[in-house]
Amino acid sequence: MLKDAGTALPEIAFIDLKAQRSRLGDRIEKAIGRVLDHGQFILGKEVEAAEAKLAEFSGAPHVIACANGTDALHLVLMARGIGPGDAVICPAFTFAAPAEVIAITGATIVFADVLPDTFNIDPAGIVTACAAARAAGLTPKAVIVVDLYGQPADYDVIEPICAEEGLFLLCDTAQGFGATHNGRKTGTIGAATGTSFFPAKPLGCYGDGGAIFTADPELDRLLRSIRMHGQGTDRYEHARVGVNSRLDAMQAAILVEKLAIFGEEIEARDRAAARYAEGLGDVVTVPRAIPGATSVWAQYTLRLGNRNRDAFIAALKADGVPTAVHYPRALHRQTAFVGHLVPGGALPVAEQLAAEVVSLPMHAYLREDVQDRIIASVRRALVEARSGGA
Ligand SMILES: *Cc1c(COP(=O)(O)O)cnc(C)c1O
Repeated sequence: MLKDAGTALPEIAFIDLKAQRSRLGDRIEKAIGRVLDHGQFILGKEVEAAEAKLAEFSGAPHVIACANGTDALHLVLMARGIGPGDAVICPAFTFAAPAEVIAITGATIVFADVLPDTFNIDPAGIVTACAAARAAGLTPKAVIVVDLYGQPADYDVIEPICAEEGLFLLCDTAQGFGATHNGRKTGTIGAATGTSFFPAKPLGCYGDGGAIFTADPELDRLLRSIRMHGQGTDRYEHARVGVNSRLDAMQAAILVEKLAIFGEEIEARDRAAARYAEGLGDVVTVPRAIPGATSVWAQYTLRLGNRNRDAFIAALKADGVPTAVHYPRALHRQTAFVGHLVPGGALPVAEQLAAEVVSLPMHAYLREDVQDRIIASVRRALVEARSGGA
């Protein structure tokens, strides 16, 4: 069986950046070479070109490049003047960045639970969080909604809640850039959107990078100033407290080349997700896009129920199949965020998901024969892990 053939089989990548690299040929070297030749390494024409291409791709009127996806969120909170006494809501089951930036501003994080089928923020949890914030004497100002694993959150339900509660809707689409929700692309939903170009994201560069999307020209103006030390009308006039959060020209040049093939890559990811669902949907809980939404499948994440996750991961590892757990601990259970608000004291779905999720290899270059090997391996590992103990 497969196990015995292990030595002869090619290594399986969790995310295959090498395959993408060879597809791009010498376009990356040429793009980097152009930057080396002109010598303007920070911001400049490559960054402007990347901003324009990102605006064109997403349909967002304003795109502001910055140093990374965490800063993209932080800069928006800074531009909104969020600070002590304010409450900002964020899902309890996601990467730490959105919670971290709220804490950095001095505002209080109010964690909301997530939905068991989409892993995204529970709209009802936003209402609960606002009530908890007010009861604690805080002013709810904003919500950071994450498009987890590449799938947009349920914005049709979330937007009216934000309007009702007076919340600024900041979307974190670090994992969902390129996805759509009822025909709208991420980057055009909410009052502002942050994304990340960390190499492992669906659209990544070869270093750190990020961008903010908005339709608000005033926010655009503020963000361009804040990313440049609060620069005013000339370089050494500081109109406000800012930070250094610029994108460098090489990353921007790389991004433009990668964006040119991103549409095709999204299609390939979607095909891979469909093949996983077909090969595994009868034996385990596979992720599904909500009606009206498309996902870019940043992760392909299973719910193992009460199976033993460690045993499952070990069985796959023995077959040479890499896995990852996004995320093993809910954010409200992290030491870093002790003292922030957890309405009701527990967020059961987030905690349950942290205990049972596992992600499989997913990228645009997943060959069908390799994927078949992964599927066979997962089916066998599910049997080995069925003893429970999660
Ligand atoms: C990766 C990620 C970020 C942060 O992006 P960086 O570029 O690494 O700072 C923020 N939010 C989510 C959901 C992410 O997955």
